[in-house]
Amino acid sequence: MLERGEVANTWRRERWDSLRLLTPNWLSRLPGHRYDGPEPDGYMTTREVVEFIEDFAAVSRAPVRTATNVTSVRRVDGGYHVTTDRGDVRCRTVVLASGACNLPAVPQFAAAVPASVEQLTSLDYRNPDQLPDGGVLVVGASATGVQLAAELRRSGRRVMLAVGEHVRLPRTYRGRDVLWWMHVSGVWNQRYDEVDDLTRARRLPSPQLVGTPERATLDLNALAAMGVELVGRWAAVREHRALFSGGLRNVCSLADLKMRRLLATFDAWARTDGSEAEVVPPEHSAPTDVPKSTRLELDLARGEIRAIVWATGYRPDYRWLDVPVVDAKGQLRHEAGVLDSPGLYALGLPVLRRRKSTFIHGVEDDARAVVDHLARSLAGRPAPSADTVSIP
Ligand SMILES: Cc1cc2nc3c(=O)[nH]c(=O)nc-3n(C[C@H](O)[C@H](O)[C@H](O)COP(=O)(O)OP(=O)(O)OC[C@H]3O[C@@H](n4cnc5c(N)ncnc54)[C@H](O)[C@@H]3O)c2cc1C
Repeated sequence: MLERGEVANTWRRERWDSLRLLTPNWLSRLPGHRYDGPEPDGYMTTREVVEFIEDFAAVSRAPVRTATNVTSVRRVDGGYHVTTDRGDVRCRTVVLASGACNLPAVPQFAAAVPASVEQLTSLDYRNPDQLPDGGVLVVGASATGVQLAAELRRSGRRVMLAVGEHVRLPRTYRGRDVLWWMHVSGVWNQRYDEVDDLTRARRLPSPQLVGTPERATLDLNALAAMGVELVGRWAAVREHRALFSGGLRNVCSLADLKMRRLLATFDAWARTDGSEAEVVPPEHSAPTDVPKSTRLELDLARGEIRAIVWATGYRPDYRWLDVPVVDAKGQLRHEAGVLDSPGLYALGLPVLRRRKSTFIHGVEDDARAVVDHLARSLAGRPAPSADTVSIP
C-alpha cells in the first residue's frame, strides 16, 4: 500500500478543525474493526477518525509504505509499472484507492472575482480566524457548505449562502438518526445496477447533515433562522458582479419533495418490516421557507463580501495515471470497480458498487468483491467479466 502522506492522511490534512463525521459512530466500521466506545450514537471528531483508521492499520497489519507519492502508473507486459518518488514497483495488479475528493471543483468564473476578495476552498479552510474580517459568501449548500456557513455565522460574520441543487435531510426522523433509516431500509445498500440514473447518482451532492452532540438538523431553515442570507445558485461573474439564479424556490421545492419521498420510503419499510413499534409516529418537516424574492446580484467590488469559500464539491486527481481509463470529465470509467485494463481496480468512489460505497462503512463489501475478482484473475481462474462481477 503506497501512501504519499501518513495513514489517514486526508483526515489529518484536508479537513476543517470543527468537522465531525456526519455518520454516527455505530456506522464507523472497517473490515473486522468497529467503534466500541461509549457513544454509539455520537459522531467522531477528525482526531478520532485518525485514531480509528490508525488502529485499523495496526490491527490489520496493513503493509503501508507512507511518504511515498505515486507519480505514474503505466501498463507493461504482465502488469503495471508504478513510479514513485521512492523507487519503482512492478506488479501484476493495481487497486486505485486514491480517493474521490483530491481537488476542489471550483467553477471557472472564480478567476473573474476581483482580487480584493479572498477566495479559498473547503480543502484549505480550517476555521473562521483564517478569513479577513467582514462578510463571507459560501458557495454550495451540501454538507460542507451548510456546515461552514453555520460556523462562519456563529463567529459573528455576515454570511451569504449560494444554494444550488442539494439533498435535504433531517438529522433524526421518528426518533432515529436518519442514517439509521438509510441503513436498515436498504436504501444505502442499493446496488449500482439497480439505480435508475447511475451517472446522476454518482454526482449527487452529500446530504445537508452535520454531526453534533445535540443531533441538530442543519437545513436551510435552520441557517436562515441563524441569519444566513440565502441566494440562488451562483451562475456567473459580470463586471465584478456575482449573478445568482432566480430559481432558489424551485430548487428548494425539489429538495423538499425528494426528502418527503425518501421519508415515505422509510415509513413504508417500517410498516412492512414490522419495525413500527421501534419508532415514534411520522413527523413532518416544514417546507423550506424561501423569501419571495432573493438577491440576484452582488457587487463584489463594494466590500460587502471580503471572502468567498468554495464548497462546490470535489473531484479526484488522476494526473499520475498513465492508463487510458479516465473519461473527459476526469472520472474513472469502471464497472463495479473493475477497470477496462486487465488487473486494474478501483475502490472508494461514489456508488462504486452500492449507494454506500463512498462512506467509510461502505468499503467492506466493495473491497471483498473487488479483491475476489482480483484474486481470481491472479490465480488464472476465469474471472467474471466486469459486467458480471458477483455482488454478495
Ligand atoms: C469533507 C468530507 C467529509 C466526509 N465525511 C464523511 C463522513 O462523515 N462519513 C463517511 O463515512 N465518509 C465521509 N467522507 C467520505 C470519506 O472521505 C471517505 O469515507 C473516506 O475517507 C474515503 O477513504 P479513502 O481511503 O477511499 O479516500 P481518502 O480518504 O481520500 O484517501 C486517499 C488516500 O490516497 C492518498 N493518495 C492520493 N493520491 C496518491 C498518490 N498519487 N500517491 C500516493 N498516495 C496518494 C491520499 O494521500 C489519501 O491518504 C467525507 C469526505 C469529505 C471530503
